[in-house]
Amino acid sequence: MQRREFVVGSLAAASAGAYLGNNLSAGESQPNTHTGVAKMPFEQPPLPYPMDGLKPLFSEEQVSFHYGKHHAAYYKNLNGLVEGKPEAQLSLDELVVKGAGAVFNNAAQAWNHTFFWNCLSPNGGREPNGELLAAIVRDFGGMTEFRKLFTDASVKVFGSGWGWLASDKQGKLEIIPAGNADNPLRLGKEPLLTVDVWEHAYYIDYRNERARFVENFWTKVNWEFVAQCYAKAKA
Ligand code: MN
Repeated sequence: MQRREFVVGSLAAASAGAYLGNNLSAGESQPNTHTGVAKMPFEQPPLPYPMDGLKPLFSEEQVSFHYGKHHAAYYKNLNGLVEGKPEAQLSLDELVVKGAGAVFNNAAQAWNHTFFWNCLSPNGGREPNGELLAAIVRDFGGMTEFRKLFTDASVKVFGSGWGWLASDKQGKLEIIPAGNADNPLRLGKEPLLTVDVWEHAYYIDYRNERARFVENFWTKVNWEFVAQCYAKAKA
């Protein structure tokens, strides 16, 4: 089994023990709490910052509904769906990659939101550097070009979905717009950055203005987390 380990980007989140979607090889054992080590019940990791920590990108009300109602519901639904079924023995990552129907939808939405929260930080918004910046320049022409391409692709997702930046095992970057719960893991690509463009993600603060929301999204992007994901993608 492939080992995949996402460690959250901020110290606050790390101290809260919030990890995303680990797959552990046989013989490795860890307690099933906030590690994503995944046998049900799947537990929603704590938000890696306070509910009002992303202002002015999101109000406290926006985050409290998104994290506390929508994201929480996907975990609750998933646990109900897999209880007593063979899927209960799989990790959240495995359900995202191999799941079907309602199990996939709820597993992927649980995973995607945890990843989304980790892509943002109260101290976010600065520019990436190092290897990640070099890859963005190489594959998109520069940060300005990348932001425009990612923003346009995300704004244009028809209906509900996600805008993703993903990497292949060689480190080649790709922008992947995705409908509903879809995730680049299904394509064998590693997610690096995502924006949630379901209306519930922005409607309290932005009403119908998805484009204005995605423009503001950049002000809180946690590039340290994106860089960590990129380093692991090629590992
Ligand atoms: Mn959402």
